[in-house]
Amino acid sequence: MCGIVGYIGEKEAYPIIIKGLQRLEYRGYDSAGVALLNGDLNVYKKKGKVSDLHAFAKGKKLSANSGIGHTRWATHGEPNDENAHPHVSQNGKLAMIHNGIIENYASIKTELLQKGYEFNSDTDSEVFLNFIEDIHTNTNVSLAEAVRLALNKVVGAYAIAIISLEEPDLMIAARKGSPLVVGLGNKEFFIASDATPIIEYTNEVVYLDDQEIAIIKDNNLTIKNIEDVEMKPYVQKVDMELESIEKGGFDHFMLKEIFEQPKSIGDCLRGRLISKEGKLHLGGIADYTNKVLNADRILIIACGTSWHAGLVAEYIFEEYCRIPVEVEYASEFRYRNPVVSEKDIVIAISQSGETADTLAAIELAKSKGATILGVCNVVGSSIARVTHAGSYTHAGPEIGVASTKAFTAQISVLTMMALMIAQKKGTLTESAFRNLLVELDSIPDKVAKCLDLNPQIEIISEKFKEAANFLYLGRGYNFPVALEGALKLKEISYIHAEGYPAAEMKHGPIALIDENMPVVFIATKDSSYEKIVSNIQEVKARKGIVIAIVTEGDDVITGMADHVIEVPHVHESLMPLIAVIPLQLLSYHIAVMRDCNVDQPRNLAKSVTVE
Ligand code: GLU
Repeated sequence: MCGIVGYIGEKEAYPIIIKGLQRLEYRGYDSAGVALLNGDLNVYKKKGKVSDLHAFAKGKKLSANSGIGHTRWATHGEPNDENAHPHVSQNGKLAMIHNGIIENYASIKTELLQKGYEFNSDTDSEVFLNFIEDIHTNTNVSLAEAVRLALNKVVGAYAIAIISLEEPDLMIAARKGSPLVVGLGNKEFFIASDATPIIEYTNEVVYLDDQEIAIIKDNNLTIKNIEDVEMKPYVQKVDMELESIEKGGFDHFMLKEIFEQPKSIGDCLRGRLISKEGKLHLGGIADYTNKVLNADRILIIACGTSWHAGLVAEYIFEEYCRIPVEVEYASEFRYRNPVVSEKDIVIAISQSGETADTLAAIELAKSKGATILGVCNVVGSSIARVTHAGSYTHAGPEIGVASTKAFTAQISVLTMMALMIAQKKGTLTESAFRNLLVELDSIPDKVAKCLDLNPQIEIISEKFKEAANFLYLGRGYNFPVALEGALKLKEISYIHAEGYPAAEMKHGPIALIDENMPVVFIATKDSSYEKIVSNIQEVKARKGIVIAIVTEGDDVITGMADHVIEVPHVHESLMPLIAVIPLQLLSYHIAVMRDCNVDQPRNLAKSVTVE
């Protein structure tokens, strides 16, 4: 996690860096800092938000044409001023920002302590920097070479940027496991964790690959890998509108992103689905369809909300393609000894495309011969690059830490994948296939109708803002929706919430039900409707408070539940795309009413690039 920004050129570096850090703040917000080169090396850092840093820096010496900045998500050492980045090396000449974890920092630190080094922070990053300084001063090599030698010795993940008081026209950056983009402007260069700090200055970027080092010197960019082989920079154009990374009149990014879903799902379907003609084409995986339809099994690997999208996909793939599916937490999969073969298809899902555990799980499955397909939102991300093929979700930048539009776009892509395979495999009749395409095509409009429920949901939220616990129950396709609803509430309102398959309630959670327990039922008209109606009765019999998401026109549950939210009818396999919308809004309003920072919930960060 953490966001890093660097600038070297003819403009004032500080405003570019501060603005960039604000754009990257979704990645971490424990503390922030900048280092500026202006004859001196001036470093300002502060616990708290980028705005706290900006207030602290006011009136200080800020004019500089080169600098680096960081917004931290602490891994080693509590969030305080000392542990904030940039760190300065012992001789006071180098400043560095780091995203990631240096796993062997303790042994390096011991060596450096023996050599007389002293440390001002508890971070692994300061150790890493002094390690570079030690090599640089004792072996008489260039700074770039010292960085390269150090990178060969460290274990872990990093994206770094370094500047030197002795060489103000030099900036060095490198990455392994954490993303890094170099922006190429007119006699200027930018460095950032993603392209958002860069796009208003240039659309030409180079995404560094793992174990690559970018050396910007005298207005020139050289890229080499850590084996000292020079690489040809692959310059790409970023296609991102400035307004897509701004709040556009909404109070929070999360709300903006919830409301963007008719468009983001539409963007995801566009050009791939032509329902009138019964056509569906996912270019990214087209060459792999035969492989998938002959697969022994599909393994879906993901974390968090993406894992919930994977659960929905499990139901869809099994139903329509008749291929066994297993859904795995990437962090568990990578550390056991999973049985994987060449006949397995792995689908890795990640909004950022940088999720550390998912990346490692992909490498493991790849080493065992599996074919890996990616479902990512961020174009050019690491997962998009290491997978054999894949489909982008095209949801646009998701800045709110609680994922919303990425989730519905992931399900949309996975549904298209399943339908495309099912049609080719013949496990779905042509008429059923065409009907589902028409239904899928109607989703953006139906999501828009759900968004009209916002005022009603706000009123309901008011009644539950003081709740201590919530239970979310659903069956079949709505079970993953229950999990996702509970996760959304937990992460932004800090209310304890559990999602369960409704039938599992009797195996434990029913003991929690009393007159203070709100229970959200996702109880739309589907093949298990009667069963869930019974579950609602069971909760009511124990005085639980029922909030039910039902299909429009439902008059059975309306008579039983305390609060009813009616959503448009859609085929049950597509209902997660609809039913999740009121749950996103419910958690959003409750969190706002509890004065929680919904875009930057405590302890969380957007893209989990550490394991
Ligand atoms: N490990 C470093 C620290 O704790 C960097 C964390 C980050 O990526 O923000 O300071």
